[in-house]
Amino acid sequence: MNLINKIKNHQTLELLEEANKITLAVHGDKITLERAIFLSWWCDKGDCAFCYMSAQKSKIKEPDKARRKVESVFAEAELTRRMGWNVEFLSGGYGSFDTREVKNIAQKIYSITGKPVWLNLGITNELEEYGNEIAGITGAVEVANPKLHKKICPSKSLEDIIEMLELAGDLGFKKSITIILGLGETPEDVKYMWDLIDGVGIDRVTFYSLNPHKDTIYENSPQPASLYYAGVVAATRIKFPTLEIITGTWLDNLANIGPLILAGANGLTKFPLFKMFGTRYGKRVEEEVLWAGRKLEGTFTDLEALQTGNIPDKNLEPFIKRYVDKCINKNLKKI
Ligand code: SF4
Repeated sequence: MNLINKIKNHQTLELLEEANKITLAVHGDKITLERAIFLSWWCDKGDCAFCYMSAQKSKIKEPDKARRKVESVFAEAELTRRMGWNVEFLSGGYGSFDTREVKNIAQKIYSITGKPVWLNLGITNELEEYGNEIAGITGAVEVANPKLHKKICPSKSLEDIIEMLELAGDLGFKKSITIILGLGETPEDVKYMWDLIDGVGIDRVTFYSLNPHKDTIYENSPQPASLYYAGVVAATRIKFPTLEIITGTWLDNLANIGPLILAGANGLTKFPLFKMFGTRYGKRVEEEVLWAGRKLEGTFTDLEALQTGNIPDKNLEPFIKRYVDKCINKNLKKI
């Protein structure tokens, strides 16, 4: 039976078993923690139907103030280094930082973490400006069925995303896409995503499940079922054994982590890091990884690691201190 039929027929256990074998054989037993570092809370497009920034757009009167201070971005990069996490990518809406600024930020983060940075900052035709500070380019596809995509993300065309990714490949960058499950797709639609992975030569996919934001049309929509999410990831792992797969899980869905790891995830993302670090929620992530039979790279609980490390630049000291204090002093009841 083909993989799509297995998703449709709820043969998730079979998919998980096969995907898990493939993952262990090809990738080993390591699981990474990934941190998307946001640069801004503003997006010029602001019309994707599910997006928090679309819901915020009418409320933000001064877009410049929705830009983060770069010092706080660099402080966050230093903390990910201390915790043994990866910077998954630099993310943000359209129109907040220009290419020169993004390049400078990426260069500084590269110098802090020792790893080149992925970008997820929208469609651009200025990729030639980037160099060895950039590892790869992400196309925020979200939903690969072209008809749905047009409806849900009217201002970022699939054709333009694909064109950008193809150019990224020609320039020697790696290529990744983001996919959100629960936007109204059917199990058959997975074929659009697979065609894209195949056709464009995608190296990494980040899966998310719908996070129904207030003031969007998905506000009252349920998140996708955990075993549907795991089934899609597992079928993708079986179809693309060497693909890097990152899966996103929000605080209210931590029990998804075990099944997603068995389905083939290499890394975990989408956590409210500073709320969770060092708490029972962070510990829960570590336990999920342990009980899936994997070894976690980095820590979600080691407060000493968080406090230990060079200050890469004196200006960053108060920003680093603020994040560290937030982790140490937070009130668990507020989570
Ligand atoms: S382009 Fe990205 S940030 Fe902007 S509204 Fe769409 S999903 Fe949100």
